[in-house]
Amino acid sequence: MSTAPSTALSSLALPHVAKLHAYTPGLQPTEPGWVKLNTNECPYAPSPRVAEALRREIGEDGASLRLYPNPKSGPLRAAVAQLHGHGLSEQNVIIGNGSDDILNLLIRAFCTSEAAAGYTFPSYSLYPVLIEIQDGKKTVIEFERSMTLPFERIASSDARAFFITSPNAPTGVAFSNAHLERVLATYKGLLVVDEAYAPFAEENAIPLFAKYPNLVIVRTLSKAHALAGIRVGYALAHPEIVGLLDRVRDSYNVSRLSQAAAVAALGDPAYYAGIVQRIKATRDATLANYVARGWFTYPSQANFIFTEPKNARGESGPAVAKSAYDFLYANKVLVRYFPSHALTASFLRISVGTDAEMRVLNDTLDAWLQAKTNA
Ligand SMILES: *Cc1c(COP(=O)(O)O)cnc(C)c1O
Repeated sequence: MSTAPSTALSSLALPHVAKLHAYTPGLQPTEPGWVKLNTNECPYAPSPRVAEALRREIGEDGASLRLYPNPKSGPLRAAVAQLHGHGLSEQNVIIGNGSDDILNLLIRAFCTSEAAAGYTFPSYSLYPVLIEIQDGKKTVIEFERSMTLPFERIASSDARAFFITSPNAPTGVAFSNAHLERVLATYKGLLVVDEAYAPFAEENAIPLFAKYPNLVIVRTLSKAHALAGIRVGYALAHPEIVGLLDRVRDSYNVSRLSQAAAVAALGDPAYYAGIVQRIKATRDATLANYVARGWFTYPSQANFIFTEPKNARGESGPAVAKSAYDFLYANKVLVRYFPSHALTASFLRISVGTDAEMRVLNDTLDAWLQAKTNA
């Protein structure tokens, strides 16, 4: 079959689809030997109960896989509601094939070419992609370098739904409930707080639910729960919002194995409290290392660090960040570099790995500082 590009086939597609740029995920190298600190995965294994639950679900011969999964992920909704308390019930929960699925459902239900969806910049770069897939209208609000929440501009925006990532990516900066309330006090649209990194933070927005029915909180099991490969995320929202999202999702959007794995993971909070503590300790030690080097680094409440490297002459900037990225890459240490905007181009985003991985990273950065090529 011909795989040559065909303008005739592309012209059959909707014009906005023909022009789309896909989301760029971080590299997932297939060969061994990399220190992988580029996609904020958990450096530790999930709870041992996850593998047990998967084996139980598959059974001797995998016969259960003949059957469709629970279409609403019912038991998982109940487990999520119970986990978070605060008077939440199953009616406040919807499960997605990763939280990306949830974000997509929100855009599908609330955004068109007339009804804008808004987001801050920088933040999770999937939001614009999801809006563009729908040919939706975008409202983008840029941070200042301080990265404090521009709550007045958000509250007065025309967006039907507005996405705030807290703690934010790629900076790691968290927004307090007091600041989120400055938006919620007057904003009439749907405020989506993407809390992918909340387990590593000091505060989360769940206590605000009782007061603000237009608040939606999105969570994932990909980061703190070490299950990026299983694809489970969820939203907490008013039952009316959950009902709307249920109408626009795929009927069997979460597989049997994913549901079983997620229920098992959420059933082992003590295990996860332990690894989250370790990651936070490694994060804070790594952050102190960059501060000691004199590198400007945002205070992180996530499982990654956004730091502005300085070369041996004490200079920072996009060329220096690129040089550090390239040197690390050449030494098989993978971090993330976002060159396309002035607010991010002088920085590296480094996922928090094990202490041993962070030692390799810091030794490699020392070698970069000694290299002649450090820009
Ligand atoms: C990682 C991440 C997600 C994606 O989570 P999945 O559940 O793996 O789809 C969503 N939002 C933010 C801000 C993230 O960093």
